[in-house]
Amino acid sequence: MENFLKTNIPEDIIKYYKKVEEEHKHNIQIYQSLFYQNPEAVFSVDLEGNFTSANETMAIKGECSKEFILQENFRNFIHPKHLAKALAKFELVKKGIPQDFELRAITAKGNQLDIVINSLPIYVDGTILGIYGIIRDVTEQKRLNKQMKQALANLEKANIEKDTILESITEGFFAINNKWEFLYCNKVIEKIWGIDKQEILGKNFWELVDVEKAPEIGIEFKRALELKVRVKFELFYTPLHIWLEITAYPTDNGLSSIVRVINEEKRVEQLFTLEKRALELNIDISISINDIVELLINGIHKIHTDMICTLMEVRDGALHNWYAPILPEAYKKLVDGFPIGIKNGSCGTAAFTKQTVIVDDIQKSQLWDGIKDIAARFGFKACWSLPLLDKNKEVFATFGIYYHTVKKPSAAEMNSLEKIRNLLTTIILNKEAEENILLSKERYDIVAKATNDAIWDCDLNTRKVIWNNGITSIFGHDEKTIRDTIEWGLEQIHPDDKMSVIEKLLTHLETRENTFSDEFRCLCADGTYKYVQNKVFIITDNVTNKPKRIIGALQDVTIQKNTELQLRTLNETLKQRADQLAVSNTELERFAYVASHDLQEPLRTITSFLQLFKRKYANKIDETADNYITFAVDGAERMKQLIMDMLEYSRVNTQLKTNEDVDMQQVVNEVLFNFGNKIKLSDATIEVTPNLPKVHAVKTQMMQVFQNLISNAIKYQKPTQPPHIKIDVKEHFTEWEFSVKDDGIGIDAKFFDKIFIIFQRLHSKTQYAGTGIGLAICKKIIDKHYGRIWVESEAGKGSTFYFTIPKAIVLHQ
Ligand code: ADP
Repeated sequence: MENFLKTNIPEDIIKYYKKVEEEHKHNIQIYQSLFYQNPEAVFSVDLEGNFTSANETMAIKGECSKEFILQENFRNFIHPKHLAKALAKFELVKKGIPQDFELRAITAKGNQLDIVINSLPIYVDGTILGIYGIIRDVTEQKRLNKQMKQALANLEKANIEKDTILESITEGFFAINNKWEFLYCNKVIEKIWGIDKQEILGKNFWELVDVEKAPEIGIEFKRALELKVRVKFELFYTPLHIWLEITAYPTDNGLSSIVRVINEEKRVEQLFTLEKRALELNIDISISINDIVELLINGIHKIHTDMICTLMEVRDGALHNWYAPILPEAYKKLVDGFPIGIKNGSCGTAAFTKQTVIVDDIQKSQLWDGIKDIAARFGFKACWSLPLLDKNKEVFATFGIYYHTVKKPSAAEMNSLEKIRNLLTTIILNKEAEENILLSKERYDIVAKATNDAIWDCDLNTRKVIWNNGITSIFGHDEKTIRDTIEWGLEQIHPDDKMSVIEKLLTHLETRENTFSDEFRCLCADGTYKYVQNKVFIITDNVTNKPKRIIGALQDVTIQKNTELQLRTLNETLKQRADQLAVSNTELERFAYVASHDLQEPLRTITSFLQLFKRKYANKIDETADNYITFAVDGAERMKQLIMDMLEYSRVNTQLKTNEDVDMQQVVNEVLFNFGNKIKLSDATIEVTPNLPKVHAVKTQMMQVFQNLISNAIKYQKPTQPPHIKIDVKEHFTEWEFSVKDDGIGIDAKFFDKIFIIFQRLHSKTQYAGTGIGLAICKKIIDKHYGRIWVESEAGKGSTFYFTIPKAIVLHQ
């Protein structure tokens, strides 16, 4: 399969899928870290309400282990009185409507908690698969409110111990009469306001409170006093630069008010909103990393008005400005490209050490040695920096905060900075991963557009199929006919092929073998069918390990298939013809055998009577008659030779019954022995390479070959010199190559093929006697032994006849 994948699926597509898988894994890690490292209690439940995940805070709040939670249904953690409300909310979220609401929960140990839940539906591929929620514990807040109410109730009831109670509470308290005069205020109010009790008491509310800058106070207090209702509101009181939560209760003769400084809470809440907004934008693929970075940093500036934030990219061992909207441009120019190191300012050191660096007083810090002047020039007194680490624990950016005052972070500030850092890290890495995925998606789209194949992409959950242009270019379908369902796809398969296609697909889905290919016929818009090769790739879900998508490429192989079919028909015809030929050859050979064999008998009669005739009438009639007698005897002789040669030729087949180890040395020796007389008469010299090998062959036929070649070598000699013949052998890897070389009359190259054809001769019988069958017999024998025979020669320069015998082939009849 691996090989198949390599050769058949374009390299780009393979890379794309690998990349997508990696990025998918990566994304999951990021989401998991966002989930599990969230300081709020975070959970998810399935549509039945069973917990599918919970983070550490969730376990702490629930007073049990995460594992315990994961075995439970959320209903078990709800106070019975609130269950109906919880279930109603649950149903709404399941319908896709996010819900924020208050509840009373019960921990595993039976303790009660007042909580605020922000819950959102979890969409996967457009379907709600569960619910994601963030829980805020408001028990303490509630307790305080209750305490407050209690205090007020007490106050109103008895008006005794008033001071003691009001002085002991942590919130500010003041009371005014119907004439808007301050009757009472506690120490907390003095502290918030920054003025003495004495300066407050007896003064008019409208004089002391800057209602121009905070009009809500005036409006709400008037409402409470006039309508005798309790009012509660929050506001940013600009004159004091603080967030306040104010509650005012009507009393018999005026108003009592509780004032709470809620800076930190407000910041946490704003940060939470910012976080939520950033995460929402993060899902939107049209929003870039920089858009979200800008949103986050500008948001932080709004929450922490005294912070001057800078996000710097860490690249090639140096810091580079990324986003710092309120940091002076001149300062940014100076620090751009600043190297990171062990004592290189707050950000440079944080990037180098991978640790958070808090410099509360730049002028006193060794880390700023050498660059303190620059900081002083711009009035920076404190600088804190938090490194942003990628999944390989490498720093890719720093998040720095400058202050114009010497300043150490409070626990709450540190907490929110950590939160911002985590959020920036998560969003940047996530966005980068997403952008990479988009890139590869684009690449995939381009490949899908560029290819001639019809690409189909089937989502097994939704059973939807997406097609590329190939469905139109190959099959002629258009928007009107194309459907995006599996069913439609299957309908296009030829009825005879459908079952096998489905079976093959199901087998691969089961065995998890993720690539395979198949061939079948597909319907075209015009009703005809095309042969296609379908290369299929199955994508498995990383988490569930179940197939989730199938992608296939249909290649039009109709032309190849038709050629293949034609070739097959052609081959069949050829085979039939070959069989017919073999039959007629055998018949022919049988006929030649029978004919030559049967011809011998009458020929013998003719020859014997001619000889009798010659003996009796030679020199007795006249010269012409004598000549006629000689011609007739000669003719009969030649006919006899021809018949014997034909018989030999036709026997080549029928005699090939055995194949054995034939000692060619012995073969040549026997032939030379038989030719003893011939050799003597022609005065020929015959040189034989010693130790000719043993070959797999039919011995008598090997003798025939050598007989023919040697006798020709002797026969076709030059009249001027006695023949010199050389018999040689060469070993090749798979065969033996024998040669018979003479120094005779030679052959013109144009006759090299002709001489191996039966009855083909280059000379008249008067020049050189012969029937033209010898070499044809040699060729037939060598062919039968799966060898080759040929000649190399030049007219007047001798000839070399070569033939080969394979080493390893066992002969067949
Ligand atoms: P034949 O020798 O009976 O004519 P062959 O089939 O043996 O028939 O040879 C075919 C022809 O090839 C011969 O007529 C001859 O012209 C040519 N030939 C064969 N062997 C040689 C050789 N050694 N030198 C030159 N010509 C040859």
